[in-house]
Amino acid sequence: MKYVSTRGQAPELDFSGVLLAGLAADGGLYMPQSWPVFSKPELRALRGLPYPELAARIMAPFIGESIAFADLQAMCRRAYAGFTHPATVPLVQLDTNIFALELFHGPTLAFKDLALQLAGHLFEHVLTERNARVRIVGATSGDTGSAAIEAMAGRSRIDITILHPEGKTSEVQRRQMTTVGATNVLNIAVKGNFDDCQDLVKAMFADAPFRQEMNLSAVNSINFARIAAQIPYYVAAALALGAPDRDVAVAVPTGNFGNVLAAWAARQMGVPIQKFIVASNRNDILARFLADNDMSAKGVEPSLSPSMDIQVSSNFERLLFEFQGRDPALTARTMADFRASGKMTVADAHWRAIRQDFTGFTLSDAATLTEIARTYRESGYLADPHSAIGLAAARERAPIGLPVIVAATAHPAKFPDAIEAATGFRPPLPPHLADLYERQEVFTAAPADLAHIEGLVRNFANRNA
Ligand SMILES: *Cc1c(COP(=O)(O)O)cnc(C)c1O
Repeated sequence: MKYVSTRGQAPELDFSGVLLAGLAADGGLYMPQSWPVFSKPELRALRGLPYPELAARIMAPFIGESIAFADLQAMCRRAYAGFTHPATVPLVQLDTNIFALELFHGPTLAFKDLALQLAGHLFEHVLTERNARVRIVGATSGDTGSAAIEAMAGRSRIDITILHPEGKTSEVQRRQMTTVGATNVLNIAVKGNFDDCQDLVKAMFADAPFRQEMNLSAVNSINFARIAAQIPYYVAAALALGAPDRDVAVAVPTGNFGNVLAAWAARQMGVPIQKFIVASNRNDILARFLADNDMSAKGVEPSLSPSMDIQVSSNFERLLFEFQGRDPALTARTMADFRASGKMTVADAHWRAIRQDFTGFTLSDAATLTEIARTYRESGYLADPHSAIGLAAARERAPIGLPVIVAATAHPAKFPDAIEAATGFRPPLPPHLADLYERQEVFTAAPADLAHIEGLVRNFANRNA
């Protein structure tokens, strides 16, 4: 499988190349040259497989010749062995047609473990083969950072720097990042918001000499390897609900648009997902775009669901590329205009086509607490604030009669304050994190200044060289 940049000015790469590069050299995002398709009989044949095996089979066409299938299978088994539920991604029925797809049984209690635990193995495999080393830099609104650090800590060919917005993640999220105690991990608390962190990371990648000197790599959801690793759980859930012989819908609490894009990719591959409900908190740029073709960035406002406190969703560029007919020049122009003006409008026909598949939804903090309380009262189920927004979206926007798969993206214990506000009690952390509040934290505070941050990354690299 070959990968092309959404902006058309970067070299085509194979899967290993995309894994190591992250962002394309022209500022675009890598996409598979075409979507692999599974026929109905091929999909039916995947029913009932253990999750690691299903994941390997779904990912195999994306990986192509880059990695031998037997190695991929072994890596999937190892990546998901540490998950604390035997189904890896259990599906729980909450109402007649509402099903929570629990994606939080990994080590850091959020769905990002599904992709990043595997990415850790994939990086190690490819770097060992090439006898190479990389420096991963990433920005996090909370969950990516801890999942990436957990996946990369202690790996000898990798060091990892994660930028988080100071004071804007939950305490559990911050502690999961800052208490790992591995010498190949650098945490930077940036004075700014998540978009500032993400801009700094993009600027480091755009700084070609620095990028080369450091051999930078990314594990944010701009890395297609992560998207690829998020497709299998939608396939597994849809199969469990009767696909490919029955249509389903999905509702996904959305920030950077990676998780919902993975669901859409599953549809491209032949899984009959009829509707994609994009669920947002008060940071509603996607909902506004889907309602009015108005993609205008406003300031990011903090909410009870910090992993969705994002205005500019990086992966939206991938959808734009697809719906603008895979025209890289047009995608590059649209993105440049957006960057210059802070506003994006797409051609009416393209917008209408997107709206055929995607519906937006937005929920306030107060209504999120109400949804957590209601779900707990009605079905005894404890949803974290992100998942609760997905549940509310499914209740409001589900097409009549279709089962809706709601991505339950985080464990409720990750957001104990919100759960307590909604239900009156604090959910306990699972045993492997029970002493999190006693662990020693290590991080470096820094201004949102590119030269300063690059200096920190360089010093850290030299110390670890
Ligand atoms: C990252 C995250 C999201 C947003 O996912 P995207 O792929 O960025 O859209 C939603 N919920 C939780 C708990 C997350 O960690």
